[in-house]
Amino acid sequence: LPRQPAASPLLALDIGGTLIKLVYTASCGGGADGADLRFAKFERRRLQECFDFIRAEGLLACNGGTRPGGENVTLKATGGGAYKFADDFLEKLGVCLDKLDEMDSVVSGANFLLQNIPGAAFTHMNGQRNPVDVSPNNLFPYLLVNIGSGVSILKVTGNKKFERVTGTHIGGGTMFGLAKLLTGCKSYDEFLQLSQKGDNFVLDLIVKDICGELVCQKQGLSTSTLASSFGKVITSEKKLTDYKPEDIASTLLSAFTYNIAQIAFLVASLLGLRRVFFGGSYIRGHKSTMENISYAIDFWSQSQMQAVFLRHEGYLGALGALMSYGD
Ligand code: ADP
Repeated sequence: LPRQPAASPLLALDIGGTLIKLVYTASCGGGADGADLRFAKFERRRLQECFDFIRAEGLLACNGGTRPGGENVTLKATGGGAYKFADDFLEKLGVCLDKLDEMDSVVSGANFLLQNIPGAAFTHMNGQRNPVDVSPNNLFPYLLVNIGSGVSILKVTGNKKFERVTGTHIGGGTMFGLAKLLTGCKSYDEFLQLSQKGDNFVLDLIVKDICGELVCQKQGLSTSTLASSFGKVITSEKKLTDYKPEDIASTLLSAFTYNIAQIAFLVASLLGLRRVFFGGSYIRGHKSTMENISYAIDFWSQSQMQAVFLRHEGYLGALGALMSYGD
């Protein structure tokens, strides 16, 4: 089991490419048994709001308070921003950041959730959400696919035992960046809502569009199989403004989600792993994202692999940083 943090209450941060994630214990005085953990997130460009929140919630007092000797409070922090913004934390908040490796933190966070929080892992397929029973003797090895601004793919073989196998720069940041440009959406949640109302087949080219229904039937191809995301746009006279933002959003979400799921499947196959856990804020508890990932993994693996999702999926790094207080 991962070591529990010290008895004093704590705050840890994960400052990523897009979001700042905070995990803290509910009250000064409790440990982190999972029951009293709290979560908060801020856009990285709103660092000041994050500072205000930490002050308003009295979270610095939790980590030892103002030291009379003038010594600064130290917070565990991971993510690239922990380096980039260390000076801001010191100047504006008077705290030092103890910087932790991002992959170490993500893996510790995932292992903590999986081994200490009942019901943290679940599948989401065919409209059904089912808990996955993980016990320490059936947990390892697994593939961890963390979908943030970019995507990191790790093989985890034990507590603190892992290897970052690969990753891709075409991730949540790419999708949301394109979504902002193409749909004018202002927030990620607005984007997800738009996609919910849209129809991706307005822009996507499917096998039927190319072969015609009859040929598809003859060759046993599924008529709705995606042949080319956004592929229909090329042969159309329509301009960007002629498309509904909802349909563009839906096309973007399915294109990126299926692509990341397919890469996850390929990596899992190469490594001979059958269980793939997905984390990162990209998922954001969004049903159709999880459904599409599950469908893709099941389809490509011919039901030999399982996509598993995690509660608090966006906070793996911050959770791992919190756990490191116990090291
Ligand atoms: P990072 O550590 O790189 O910031 P995250 O795991 O926090 O990565 O995921 C960031 C991605 O999650 C974004 O690129 C976007 O796809 C999605 N996302 C979820 N919620 C938000 C949000 N409130 N604002 C921006 N992006 C969000």
